[in-house]
Amino acid sequence: MIIIMKDALTAKMVLAEAQNRQLPHVYRFENRVGFAEIKNINELSFINQADIVETIADHPAAMQVSRTFHPDDTIIQTPHSKIGGENFNLIAGPDAIESAEHVLAMGQAAKDAGATILRGGSYKPRTNPYSFQGLGEQGLQWHRAAADALGMDMMTEIMSPTDVDLVGKYTDIFQVGTRNMQNFALLKAVGKQSKPVLLKRGMSATVDEWLSAAEYIASEGNCQIILMERGIRSFDQKYLRNTMDVSVIPVLRELTHLPVLADPSHAAGVTEHVTPTGLAAVAAGAQGLMIEIHDQPDKAWVDGKQALTPEQMVNLFTKAQTIHDIVK
Ligand code: PEP
Ligand code: MN
Repeated sequence: MIIIMKDALTAKMVLAEAQNRQLPHVYRFENRVGFAEIKNINELSFINQADIVETIADHPAAMQVSRTFHPDDTIIQTPHSKIGGENFNLIAGPDAIESAEHVLAMGQAAKDAGATILRGGSYKPRTNPYSFQGLGEQGLQWHRAAADALGMDMMTEIMSPTDVDLVGKYTDIFQVGTRNMQNFALLKAVGKQSKPVLLKRGMSATVDEWLSAAEYIASEGNCQIILMERGIRSFDQKYLRNTMDVSVIPVLRELTHLPVLADPSHAAGVTEHVTPTGLAAVAAGAQGLMIEIHDQPDKAWVDGKQALTPEQMVNLFTKAQTIHDIVK
């Protein structure tokens, strides 16, 4: 239940009293107090409804991430980026970290094209166990060195709760991939961290499942969450790797205060379709894009089929920025 109090001071007092009574999962945003486990105000005898309550709002399952609880856009500050609100963020980098030189060169190209966040996987969730699994800590070190040399943020995927300390030692932003969107142990582990988490949509996840996954992270205390639509499974696997759910973007912008970004690389699956797919997501209200790049896509270790060259990235980012300026 979300109770909208007459003012923030009253809400503060109600929160203090709830904590005093050891009620679990009670949160406050300005004049709103959210009780995640309580659905009826009669259970809260210490609240004098007539005097202090403005209204009682609907109870979304994913409470803390909802706009009902937190009407203002969340803005996340990282060392080199401001994410959310009217900001527009560009993220680029190779699918996988391949070498120190390569991630540095791709980072330079990404930075020149306007990106502030350098992506790249060192722990790769591969469908096949015999496919390249990532360089592990060596990759993290090369990735960190490139980001530092360029003054960019580092973002990399984490797949297991046991890797939180190791990955957290290097990265600025944790990426939770589509295959782990409902890995609840992982969500809880990154929820205990103080660095932002980019949460991709599960490839078959409903909006409520996705927001509830974000709520898992928030429920552990980390509210710096970025949502990323990366395409969902549909019925055509011949021409579409995934289907960019453009329509979910305005839906999320309405339901949640969290930044909503899009990844057209994994949605489209082939280079030629990445740019139009990304531009459509921006037109729909995405607050940023993430793409995979490679200078020699046919030699990329992973996901070369969908990589943009640095030149193609410049073209996409220039157009995306223009569209964002029009729609914001
Ligand atoms: C990736 O970003 O390289 C990746 C594995 O993405 P997804 O989780 O969306 O498949
Ligand atoms: Mn990839």
